[in-house]
Amino acid sequence: MKEIMIATSNAHKVEEFKTMLEPLGYKVKSLLDLDDSIDIIEDGTTFQENALIKAKAIYDKLHMEVIADDSGLAVNAMNGQPGIYSARFMGRDTSYDIKNQYIIDFCRDKKDKGCQFICAIAYIDKDGNEKVFTGIVEGIVANHIEGAKGFGYDPLFYYPPYGTTLANVSEEQKNAISHRGKALAKFISYLEGGR
Ligand code: IMP
Repeated sequence: MKEIMIATSNAHKVEEFKTMLEPLGYKVKSLLDLDDSIDIIEDGTTFQENALIKAKAIYDKLHMEVIADDSGLAVNAMNGQPGIYSARFMGRDTSYDIKNQYIIDFCRDKKDKGCQFICAIAYIDKDGNEKVFTGIVEGIVANHIEGAKGFGYDPLFYYPPYGTTLANVSEEQKNAISHRGKALAKFISYLEGGR
């Protein structure tokens, strides 16, 4: 059985990747399975660069198939911020209630309330070949926080086709249209296409 390493310690992401990759015959491992921690400095300037930095750091150490992802929210009225700084925006320990409310207030009088969730998935095969897949979902910064599902910036992300925020829909509904779902779908079809 082929083994693939997911460059994350986030159990939620590991499960998501397992669901997609096990049917393709992969045994999915993650950083949670390692005894040693691997220091990774994410100093790229784009989601794609950061995903590749993470994947390379793992590949250089373990020389096995690896995928890493990087994602975040880009707000038009904030010139694409918080972007790659989404997790660190206003401080890593600041609650998302506060972060979401700040962005909503910032956008309140702005003409362009557009925003995107972006996800880059970097893949390195066992021979060291690199490939990056990007998924984007377009939304609008809501007028107020809405919904208790999902995580992070979901409560501010109004998705017009659903008529509500992504914090107000099921996981299946979110995965069907999400940045991560789209990037994963591209990656899976690449794998299924025999590379
Ligand atoms: P990372 O890809 O795990 O580094 O995630 C970066 C940050 O982007 C997260 O901590 C969230 O703040 C934000 N983010 C990424 N994807 C989502 C999503 O699907 N919903 C809400 N926030 C997200």
